[in-house]
Amino acid sequence: MYVTRQLFKSTIDLLEKYCSIEVFEGDDDPIPREILLKKIKDVDGLLCLITEKIDKEVFDIGEKLKVVSNYAVGFNNIDVDEASKRGIYVTNTPGILTETTADCAFALMMAVSRRIVEGDKNIRAKQWVHAWGPRMFIGYDIHGKTLGIIGLGRIGIAMAKRARGFDMNVIYYDPIRRIDLEKEQDIIFKPLNDLLGLADFVSIHVPLTNETHHLIGENQFKKMKKTAYLVNTSRGPVVDEKELYNALKMKTIAGAGIDVFETEPIDLMNPLIELDNIIMTPHIASASIDTRTAMAMMAASNIVAVLEGKVPLNAVNPEIKNIFIK
Ligand code: NAD
Repeated sequence: MYVTRQLFKSTIDLLEKYCSIEVFEGDDDPIPREILLKKIKDVDGLLCLITEKIDKEVFDIGEKLKVVSNYAVGFNNIDVDEASKRGIYVTNTPGILTETTADCAFALMMAVSRRIVEGDKNIRAKQWVHAWGPRMFIGYDIHGKTLGIIGLGRIGIAMAKRARGFDMNVIYYDPIRRIDLEKEQDIIFKPLNDLLGLADFVSIHVPLTNETHHLIGENQFKKMKKTAYLVNTSRGPVVDEKELYNALKMKTIAGAGIDVFETEPIDLMNPLIELDNIIMTPHIASASIDTRTAMAMMAASNIVAVLEGKVPLNAVNPEIKNIFIK
């Protein structure tokens, strides 16, 4: 069993009870591709991160693989079809990071519209010269405004709950309409284009798929209010980043709070870095101690289940008849 990054001691202890394991020794660096391809050869389980592309080449070499356990809820880094063809389970860590990720999305939304980071930078740059000014760092309210949620899954619903506490109106778009939640949580379904035109804040919570790649681009920014903010904690390629830059630069929208990027780590020449009306975080939406520890334990438990001959609780391809399970 191979683990591609240093994890928590409790996780390693759990895995060691069931199998022999090897952990990539790099401190906090992603495993180089050539090492992954070498190590995958003889293992029956892999615990990996979204930084690893688990594709046909990996499966071709990893002939003994029974399970690939992703340390994330999103699994767009894994070719699930290829795994399923070979009877290999792919697992993720759903639910456990929902609230932490929604906390971060809400924090980005508040910080960008109330210009919290700009204010902090101003003090550190020793530029706070007037004690108080009616127009100093003037931003937009959150309470009473409309939040448009794209993707009303686990994290989208958690955003809606937070928004209610702030007396926001909540609208959503999702190809799967949730009539039950509309009544229960006082939220309203809108087609995507209508949502974009109505929302003061648009927060994205979809998985990255062929359908959601560049879901938000030039046309969508044009439909948004000039005073609106975009928040993205889903996956970078869901937003066309060039068009995000144009929209922010041309003030087609007021601002953005972004945790995920088309290229990670961000290219140092990325022009978004030069803009004031964006707050950026380095893909840390699930990064709380409690959540990251729980995610690691869940990822390990998924591997243990397969090693014990059971169907893992969080298989994303449970429909496969795993050829290794009797
Ligand atoms: P989920 O599966 O519970 O919800 C996703 C929702 O998106 C579903 O309701 C689905 O119907 C909807 N959807 C699918 N295609 C859509 C489309 N074209 N338009 C609108 N809605 C669409 O997933 P979740 O647990 O809420 O997580 C969502 C995503 O957030 C994950 O796939 C992951 O990529 C991302 N995520 C990122 C971080 C981070 O660290 N930044 C942390 C957790 C999750």
